[in-house]
Amino acid sequence: MSKRDYYEVLGVSNNATAPELKKAYRKKAIQFHPDKNPDNKEAEEKFKEAAEAYEVLSNDQKRQRYDQYGHAGMSGAAGGGFGGGGMNMDDIFSHFGDIFGGGSGGSFFGGFGGGGRSSQRVNRGSNLRVKVKLTLEEIANGVEKKIKVKKHVECKDCNGSGAEGGSSHDTCTQCKGSGQVTRIQNTILGQMQTSAVCPSCNGEGKIITNKCKSCAGEGIVKDEEVITINIPAGVAEGMQLSVSGRGNSARRGGVNGDLLILVHEEEHPDLIRDENDLLYNLFISIPDSILGTAVEIPTIESKVKVKIDGGTQPGKILRLRGKGLPDINGYGRGDLLVKINVWVPNKVSKDEHKLLEKLQASESFIPNPSSHEKSFFKKVRNFFD
Ligand SMILES: [Zn+2]
Ligand SMILES: [Zn+2]
Repeated sequence: MSKRDYYEVLGVSNNATAPELKKAYRKKAIQFHPDKNPDNKEAEEKFKEAAEAYEVLSNDQKRQRYDQYGHAGMSGAAGGGFGGGGMNMDDIFSHFGDIFGGGSGGSFFGGFGGGGRSSQRVNRGSNLRVKVKLTLEEIANGVEKKIKVKKHVECKDCNGSGAEGGSSHDTCTQCKGSGQVTRIQNTILGQMQTSAVCPSCNGEGKIITNKCKSCAGEGIVKDEEVITINIPAGVAEGMQLSVSGRGNSARRGGVNGDLLILVHEEEHPDLIRDENDLLYNLFISIPDSILGTAVEIPTIESKVKVKIDGGTQPGKILRLRGKGLPDINGYGRGDLLVKINVWVPNKVSKDEHKLLEKLQASESFIPNPSSHEKSFFKKVRNFFD
C-alpha cells in the first residue's frame, strides 16, 4: 500500500509553518484518538498516519529530506525511523506532552476515558474545567476560593457500583472476566492473533444483572458540589492548576477525573502586570516636574509616598523594589516600575497664557538635551507600549 503525502495527511500546504503543523496535528489527533474511536481500525490507522506525518514534518532535517526525496527518503536512512513499521502507539502517546503543552498533556485526554490501550480497563471520570477570576490583590497574596461545580458524583444508592441494593456482578461470559477478547485470523503470513476490548462488558469483565434504578447502572449521578481550592500567590493569566481527583466521578467505581482550574486575571484599575513586575503610569504637572513634588503611588497593598526631584524629565522610570508580585516558585518579589509623564494641558486661562508667553522666551526653557538623555530611548523601549 502506498503512503499518502504527509502534507495531505495533516491537511496543510507544503509551506506550512511549525505552529500550523502543530495545530493541524492536534486537530487530527483529537479527531482520531483511540479513546474517542474504540475498536475503530480505520481511525487508529489515521491516528498513526497523522502522528508519523507530524513526526517527520516537525523535524527540520527530516522535513527537508522528505521534501527532496519523498517517502523514499525516509526509509532506512540514519535516524529516519519509519521504513515500513510506522510508529507504535506508545511512541505516539509519549509525544503528546510536547503537542498539548507541559503538564496538561496527560489530562487533555482524560475526558475520553483513559483506558483503551491497557488490558485491564479502568473507568476514569472525565476532567472538569473551571475558570476562576482573580484580582491582582488575590494573586499577590494567594486566595482560598469556593466554587460550585456541576459534576458527576458517585451514586449513593448503590455506592457507585451500579448494582441494585448491593447485588453482585456476574462475570462476563464472553471474555470470562478478562475484559479482552482474542481473535485468530488467517493471513498470508500465517495465523495472527489480535485482542480487543470485550464488547459485552466494555472491558470491565463483569456484567450487572440487576441495575440500580437511581443511576441506571452507571454508578454516577449528576449533582452540584462546592469545592474549596487554594490558589497560590503569583499565578498568572492562562495558568492551569490541577486538583487531582476532584473532577467527575467515574462510572461504576473507577478513578475520578481531575479538576482543572484556569486562571483569569482581572484588570487592575491602576496597575499593569508585566510578569512579576507591576507598571504604573504617573502623570505630574509641568510646574511639579520643574520644582519637584511628592506623590502617592498606588501599590497592591496600599499607597506609598514617593518624592519626585525637581528637573525630572518625562520618561524617567522609578523602580520601587519588592513592590511587585511574589514569584510563584518562591523566588522573591518583582518590582513596581513607575514611569513619569508630564501632563500637558490643552486649555489654559488668559492669565496662564500670559505667564507661559513670558516663560516661552526665557533662557531656561529652551530645550538642551545632553548626550546623557539619549540613553532614555534604550531604557524606555518596550516599556508601556
Ligand atoms: Zn446507583
Ligand atoms: Zn466481557
